[in-house]
Amino acid sequence: LLELKNIVKTFGTHRAVDNIDLTMQAGEKTVIIGPSGSGKSTLLRAINILETIDSGSILFEGNDVGYRQVKGKQVLDKPKNICKLRTQIGMVFQHFNLFPHMTVIENAMEGQVTVLGIPKAEARAVAMSMLEKVGMSSFADRFPASLSGGQKQRAAIARALSMKPKLMLFDEPTSALDPELVGEVFAAIKQLADDGMTMIIVTHNMGFAREVADHVVFMENGSFLAKGAPDDFFSKQCEDPRIQSFIDRIF
Ligand code: ATP
Ligand code: MG
Repeated sequence: LLELKNIVKTFGTHRAVDNIDLTMQAGEKTVIIGPSGSGKSTLLRAINILETIDSGSILFEGNDVGYRQVKGKQVLDKPKNICKLRTQIGMVFQHFNLFPHMTVIENAMEGQVTVLGIPKAEARAVAMSMLEKVGMSSFADRFPASLSGGQKQRAAIARALSMKPKLMLFDEPTSALDPELVGEVFAAIKQLADDGMTMIIVTHNMGFAREVADHVVFMENGSFLAKGAPDDFFSKQCEDPRIQSFIDRIF
């Protein structure tokens, strides 16, 4: 479904993402952990082309996303492809980024109507079914300001799902939440995982990583330092003192 080859992203002289390779088959779940500033968000943003990369290639469903070299610099080839790609990749951020002037269901209809051109009645039905999936159907007509953090995040997940994405990216979806609200958001993501969604999740929640991930990767200084199945990861890789100390700090 997704193939990243030698992805490099620099900010000034700093290599935020340094030669990342990642292949995801449909249905796979990858969890990325790693210290602050290691490049996790930048990598997710690069996959969704919220950041352009300096070099490397991104293939989605076997199609090159469309970077080409111009005078030694990577530029995006066909903006049309990007729009299509973005509709197929859903992203959920730490801060929910709901449209504040729209109700929960309107939030989940907006992209369908304006980007995909789906008629309103149909968009509403899809939005409602996604709200049901995350346990938010009874909040459909509420405005974001009147919701708890966990409810906002579940609404944001439903909004992303309403676009029927093939890949979901979660960037620390629970780190802005009070501890008692984390469970409901993870439950929604777990449900989605069990439904077969392909996903990349940045989280520091090791328990959740273990429960949901096929692979866990540890990122530091823009690179993947270690990669493995969750159980192996927490046993074998702990020989590496950097990873061990990171895990010790967050457990
Ligand atoms: P955190 O766990 O704190 O979210 P992260 O692993 O997501 O960290 P990134 O946000 O990807 O890290 O940042 C990686 C590095 O790139 C950091 O050193 C950061 O300061 C830098 N960086 C990120 N975005 C920009 C930007 N727009 N301009 C300049 N530097 C940036
Ligand atoms: Mg981040």
